[in-house]
Amino acid sequence: EAKSKGRNLFQFYEPAMNERIMERRQLEMDMRQALHRREFRLVFQPRYNATTQKIVGAEALVRWLHPTRDLLSPACFIPLAEETGLIFELSDWVLHEACLNALSWHDNVLVSVNLSPMEFQRNDVADRIAAVIERTGIAPQRLELEITESVMLEDATSALTMMKKLKALGVRLSMDDFGTGYSSLGYLRSYPFDGIKIDRSFIMDLDQTQSSEALVNAIISMGHALALTVTAEGIETAEQLGKVVELACDQAQGFYLGRPVSPMQFRQVVEEMELS
Ligand code: C2E
Ligand code: MG
Ligand code: MG
Ligand code: MG
Repeated sequence: EAKSKGRNLFQFYEPAMNERIMERRQLEMDMRQALHRREFRLVFQPRYNATTQKIVGAEALVRWLHPTRDLLSPACFIPLAEETGLIFELSDWVLHEACLNALSWHDNVLVSVNLSPMEFQRNDVADRIAAVIERTGIAPQRLELEITESVMLEDATSALTMMKKLKALGVRLSMDDFGTGYSSLGYLRSYPFDGIKIDRSFIMDLDQTQSSEALVNAIISMGHALALTVTAEGIETAEQLGKVVELACDQAQGFYLGRPVSPMQFRQVVEEMELS
């Protein structure tokens, strides 16, 4: 009896597990072809001067136009790209595409690209960025690289070396999702960051609690004490924008100000901005 029960359990679990594994392997195979089939797309989310509400730049965010599953968000495939090592090829594509787009915008509009922490596990990250700058001809000071704290947690010394090499190329570096990791303060002091992006979770709470306002205030003051440009991420309401402006935050990004849009739409937005 126990045996048949065991078999039942086995039968219950196995197909489901197999399905998940098969689905993953299928997605992995699909991804290998996706680059060649040109299924990846970029969208651009504007970033604004918080006070004047003028566009200062845009963040490139990748999407996968999968042939049978419609639009996949990065959360669905970036981890897989990291596991399979495809992240390097994908990231090169993102960087190249983002810079090419930026060339069609006004000169003073920056472009931000997210790097995966995994890209810092290889020593060629600065060479790859240098190659993109050379191939596209973008002014390096218009390119901003967003990295998370986890980059420094892996191997702090080599991360610092690589970041110094990146800075030597003239690009900007910003710490993404600030406040979600730990020991941020120490890293900020000794690493060559130009800016921080306060994580959305802190901004979300701004309407609700007093303590989160105190926290955001402290982050902004600390950022400014270190001469960093501070951006608030995930602004969804007028109240949140009002608060961060009041707290002297430099820049703001979020659905309330502008959602991620296609390259063509962003180009139009930038052109209209120049006319006004
Ligand atoms: P991130 O770098 O923190 O990017 C911001 C994410 O927050 C984007 O999600 C954006 O659409 C979303 N967002 C912006 N404003 C708001 C808002 O007001 N409310 C809410 N609820 N969400 C907002 P997305 O595009 O799904 O990207 C998720 C993450 O995937 C990114 O977080 C980034 O870490 C990663 N990612 C995206 N593109 C790339 C890429 O090309 N390479 C790498 N390595 N990672 C990428
Ligand atoms: Mg980012
Ligand atoms: Mg972020
Ligand atoms: Mg985030």
